[in-house]
Amino acid sequence: MDWFKRKDKKIKEKIKKAIPDGLWEKCPSCKEILFKPELDKNLAVCRHCSHHFRMDYRKYLDLIIDEGSSKRLFENIKSSNFLNFVGRRNYDDQLNDAYKKSGNTDSIEIYSGSIKSKSVIIGIMNFGFIGGSMGSALGELISLAIVKARKDKKPLILVCKSGGARMQEGAISLMQLAKISTQLAKFSDSGGLYITVLTDPTTGGVTASYGMLGDIIFAEPGALIGFAGPRVIKQTIGQDLPEGFQRSEFLLEKGFIDRIISRDKMKNHLHNIIDLLN
Ligand SMILES: [Zn+2]
Repeated sequence: MDWFKRKDKKIKEKIKKAIPDGLWEKCPSCKEILFKPELDKNLAVCRHCSHHFRMDYRKYLDLIIDEGSSKRLFENIKSSNFLNFVGRRNYDDQLNDAYKKSGNTDSIEIYSGSIKSKSVIIGIMNFGFIGGSMGSALGELISLAIVKARKDKKPLILVCKSGGARMQEGAISLMQLAKISTQLAKFSDSGGLYITVLTDPTTGGVTASYGMLGDIIFAEPGALIGFAGPRVIKQTIGQDLPEGFQRSEFLLEKGFIDRIISRDKMKNHLHNIIDLLN
């Protein structure tokens, strides 16, 4: 097979370098290949097209809350398998896995802290804990956060990221919608300021309750926000859906949300609105 050999010695053969896994990420929007450490430094936002990647929930704490001011609240509240539910997997096993994997006790963490010296109560949802689903522990945690915000006369911020109700807890998970909404109504009556930040994705029961009940509703660019998925809606109404359906930009146009704010400006906007309204 002599005809395969390179005779010209001046041409150097390229040696393919091995690229370690997990160092590169392709932007789903502009298709550019992004260097992961650089992407992380840029708040998980594509530097070419500003596509907002999903960001780890703890980073929202660093992004929004003043350094050194945060204090975790109500950290010993946990879900339990009170229905002895066994689906494809035992719910107990699912919970234990989620505790181990996330190091968290449920799909939301509540903190007190400050935003440019303005005291707030903030809840940040964790999509990594059983799809950011809404169960009894989350309902109790948010209720406690609302009561604390009311007592301390502080604004309440909820950063939402959820797949919806946790069906392993049956009707109890759906009751959280009513429980949280009732507390929010009391909070509103007492003059409390409640702001939601909708991130990708905010779906299911969270959209049907506290996600959309904010006095001010902010959303990140391009976030999926909706109750049922597009496939289900398409099947139900038997029509094609408009382009960009259920994305922040579409919802802003239809008046469902107040403003779309890029991640790097989120803290400033939250501070300004609190300064103005509280
Ligand atoms: Zn991009």
